[in-house]
Amino acid sequence: GGRLLDVEDLHVEFRTRDGVAKVLNGVSYHVKAGETLAVLGESGSGKSVTAQTVMGILDTPPGFVTGGAIRYDGEDLLTATEDRRRQLRGESMSMIFQDALSALNPVYTVGFQIAEQLRTRRGMSRKDATARAVELLDQVKIPNAKQRVKEYPHQFSGGMRQRAMIAMSLALDPELLIADEPTTALDVTVQAQIMDLLDELRRDRGMGLILITHDLGVVAEVADRIVVMYAGRIVESADAYGLYEQPGHPYTEGLMRSIPRLDLKGQDLETIKGLPPNLMKIPSGCPFHPRCPRAEDRCREQVPEQHQLGSGRTSACHFAEELMTSE
Ligand code: SF4
Ligand code: MG
Repeated sequence: GGRLLDVEDLHVEFRTRDGVAKVLNGVSYHVKAGETLAVLGESGSGKSVTAQTVMGILDTPPGFVTGGAIRYDGEDLLTATEDRRRQLRGESMSMIFQDALSALNPVYTVGFQIAEQLRTRRGMSRKDATARAVELLDQVKIPNAKQRVKEYPHQFSGGMRQRAMIAMSLALDPELLIADEPTTALDVTVQAQIMDLLDELRRDRGMGLILITHDLGVVAEVADRIVVMYAGRIVESADAYGLYEQPGHPYTEGLMRSIPRLDLKGQDLETIKGLPPNLMKIPSGCPFHPRCPRAEDRCREQVPEQHQLGSGRTSACHFAEELMTSE
């Protein structure tokens, strides 16, 4: 498929009373139709802010775009009117969140909320819109959709609520779906079911899918490509297979070591020591250097460039080539 979304060198800062936080510092990624991009990183790395800026739902103030571009199907979104952005939301791009309860209105039935979008934005009759809502609940594999369409969000379990939110986000047939930590609040079995569902919907509809997560394990099976974010930058970008085979950045290595492995019993999971930086005082040189087990003197002084490692793979580490050839 052709490129659906292009994010280029995006810069965002949050202007607060305490100072300016440099939240995004040159983020670039793209998504094609029919492909799954996983955006990986710890909380505060800028994954959600990038998605909110793409959707046009960044809180301004305090958030301000200070540089870069976002193109959807070639159209420049940062200069588009608010009316145009609103039209694109839902019809072209849609987003789901960790907390379905905050996205669903507690006082209306699930079916009403889906049908309402179809009535106001597609001009469908109440009857047709409700029939379509049942089809959508069916597509997200909610059993007994004809009955459940009449129920309220609180009558759904966590996993079913997540499915209902997915159905709602697909009502206007978007070409791009952004899922921000869609399974973080769910137990492991349900997590896998929701990931399978998203993967199947992506395939059946030929959608582009962006999966935002802090958990590399969750996206292992479904991602085509992975970008890893740290302190508002992309530190590594690779196809999923290549990244699992051999991480090209020390931060990715750390994330990999923190995934529980089924084949190792009684394992001591390593976590990356230290905390993500304060975005008002990003460390000099490589922003990861205070936590990096491989850091050397130059890491404290020089900001690493994006090293091109072949087949579209990049790493922002001074020693990227050496990492790739070691072991
Ligand atoms: Fe670590 Fe240096 Fe590479 Fe940064 S540039 S990730 S500090 S080795
Ligand atoms: Mg987030």
